[in-house]
Parts: sequence; C-alpha cells; structure tokens
Amino acid sequence: MATSEVLPVAKSTVGELAAFGGSRLFASPKSTSNLVRPDFAKFLDYSRVFFDARHYTNNGPVVRLLERRLAAFHGTRHCVTFCSGFWALAVALKLSALEGRSEVVMPSLTYRRMADVAAWAGLVPRFCEVDERSLAQTAATVEPAITADTALILAVHPIVNCCDVAGLERLARSRGLPLVFDSVESVYEAAPEGKIGAFGDVECFSMHASKLLNGFEGGYITTNDASLARKVALARGFGFEGESNVVVPHGLNAKLNEIHAAMALASLDEIEDQVSRNRGRYRVYRHALSGIRGLRLLGFDESSRPSYKNIVVELLEDWPLSRDATVGLLNAENVLARSYYHPPLHRRRMAYRHAPADLALTDRLAARFVVLPSGHFVTDDDIRKLAALLGFLRANGAAIAARLAPGFPRA
Ligand SMILES: *Cc1c(COP(=O)(O)O)cnc(C)c1O
Repeated sequence: MATSEVLPVAKSTVGELAAFGGSRLFASPKSTSNLVRPDFAKFLDYSRVFFDARHYTNNGPVVRLLERRLAAFHGTRHCVTFCSGFWALAVALKLSALEGRSEVVMPSLTYRRMADVAAWAGLVPRFCEVDERSLAQTAATVEPAITADTALILAVHPIVNCCDVAGLERLARSRGLPLVFDSVESVYEAAPEGKIGAFGDVECFSMHASKLLNGFEGGYITTNDASLARKVALARGFGFEGESNVVVPHGLNAKLNEIHAAMALASLDEIEDQVSRNRGRYRVYRHALSGIRGLRLLGFDESSRPSYKNIVVELLEDWPLSRDATVGLLNAENVLARSYYHPPLHRRRMAYRHAPADLALTDRLAARFVVLPSGHFVTDDDIRKLAALLGFLRANGAAIAARLAPGFPRA
C-alpha cells in the first residue's frame, strides 16, 4: 500500500489548535464508549414478551432467555445476570473469598472503581504488578503478592487482548486459592484454552452502554459451579429463598430488569456485525497511524478472536509531548481520548484500607498509554482526521509545548 497517501489536513498552524483558541476539529464529541444501538424492532420484539406477560422484573422470561443465551455464548453451564457489572463483581468476590482471610490480590493498573468493589465485598486490595507486554497480571506478578491472608485472586483482562488465563489457573490451583476473572473487556474473546467465560471459579461481565454488549446497564457472571451459581443468584435477590428464609448473608437487590435484558438480547443478536465494524475501524487506524513516529498502536492478537473494540496507543520515548498534554490537546478538539487506567489504583487517595504497594513498572506504564475514540459514532473519515491531527502534534511538538500554559491541561 502507498505510504505517501495524502492525509486530510487537520490544522495548518499551531494557533489553529483548539487549545489555543482555534475551532474544534470535530463538531460533536468522539468518545471511547461503544454506544452501539441495536435494531429497534428487535428490541421491541423482546420487550413485548415481558410486557404481555406483565412480568417486569424478578427473574422474568426475558432475563431467563438472556441467561440461557449468554451461557451458550460463553459455553458455560450457568449465567446469572445483575443490574450492573459492579454488583456482579462484588457478589462474586464476596462469595468466592476464603473464609477468615481478608486480602484480594488484584492489579493496580485497572478499572478505576475496583477498590470500591473490594470494599463492598469486605476485602482489602493487595495490588500486584503487571506484565509489560500484556499490561495484565500474570502468575509471575501475582505470586509475590500472595500472603497467608490472601482470600482470593482477582484477575482482570486488559482492554486489548486477554491475560494469561492458563498460567493464572495453574497458580490459583497450586496455592489453593479461588480465582475470579473480571472479563468485562474480553467478553467476545477466546484464550488458547477456550472461550472466555469458563475459567477460574467465576467470571464477571458488564452490559453498560459503553461496553460491547449494550443492555443500557447490567452485568452477569458465568460459572460451571452449580452451587456457586445458586448462591450468587440468591444473593442478588435479597439473599432469601421462599418467603423469608435468609440463606445467603449480605443479600442485596441487584437484579436485572426485563427491559434491560431485552436490550441486551437485541445487542447480542448483532454482536458479529458490531465486531466486524470494529475490525474495519481498527484497520483504518492501523493504516493511518503507521507513518507517525513515536506512536505505537497496540495490536490485536488475531488468534484470540478479538472484538477490536478498544484502540490504545503507546507514546514512545521520542513522542514530543507528555501524555497528559497530548490528551488535553485532543480533548480540546472534541476527541474524548483518555489516559489508560490513570492514575493506577495504588496512587489514588481512597477511603478504604489497602496493602502498601511499590509498583515501579505500573507507575511507568500508567504514564504512557492513551485510549482513542472507537465505537458507533466514529467513522473512517473521523479516524483519518484524527490521525492527521496526531501527525500535526508530532511534527510541531516543540512549538506546541512552548506555547502551552504551565500545568496544562489542569491549569
Ligand atoms: C465497566 C467495567 C466494570 C463495571 O461495570 P458496570 O456495569 O459499569 O458496573 C468492571 N470492570 C471493568 C474492567 C470495566 O471496564
């Protein structure tokens, strides 16, 4: 393919950057959220089922259908839905933790609310390092964080590709520890050992509108453990069975309602189309960014059946601007790029206890990655325009840096 292909011109002078008073590159925001809207007629068809049955929540027909469909999708025996991924995780952690122990080993370079999840489960996070290449925890990075007080391991898939599932399973088994996966970002993927969903003791997923599978809000767990699935299902509905026999402590009301399940089913029906559109966008990104020095696009591992949903670039040594300045300049243009999992959890001030951690690699990695727009509202032309803007930042980095207010973008 020609390397000299003409890119659209984003800006011709530094003064035209929106950060310096120029007009924005995009009239409407370009976000990193998926926001896929499935076929409305399909959504109505599923909705009619519960509406006609007058069964709006409490394990109605559409929720039950969704759970069957998701169990089949992941190849697991059980699926239990929740009102959010957050509560699916909290319940999974709570019910998997070894009794009498208080710590959960988890990465620090991860989902920003993960320490809150642990706190609701009554657990203290002990943050571990990640692997430089995968940006995820591995058996080797988890092992040093295991103590006599470890109640379980929480492994989180990174937003591009999967973590080393088999290695983590081996470690958990050899140390006699429960293993929970946060597989929100790998819902579509397959590890070499099989489809994501059937690993560890239990895996957790989200159906928030920003994720691959849009149920407006929602979450679910998958497992092959019938007794765990039963306890999880009880916990989400107040923890009682029959009239008032509380059989699972810490029950809560975290049920998925029928209309969210209808949306999720309509989305699930179209998931292949969505992935193929994502793949198209990824390929345009790959081509458009290939000539820009100092930027490395994280590549998808084609052998793991990727969803191609998230676009992440690493700013290399010779990129002329700081990561925060780069994100600030993009945001000013209506490009809602985000820092990748920054600050890492061990650097946040939080109200909960967490074990002290010294994570030099995580600190270094947390300053280098940017998540770029993707999903339903991003066109191929948008991507080419954005690439041209990045090329402009690259070419004029020194002049831009000299003109930025001290402390930008915070000042
Ligand atoms: C979004 C997300 C969650 C939480 O899901 P919600 O449905 O928004 O509560 C958990 N883990 C990861 C990795 C996420 O990206």
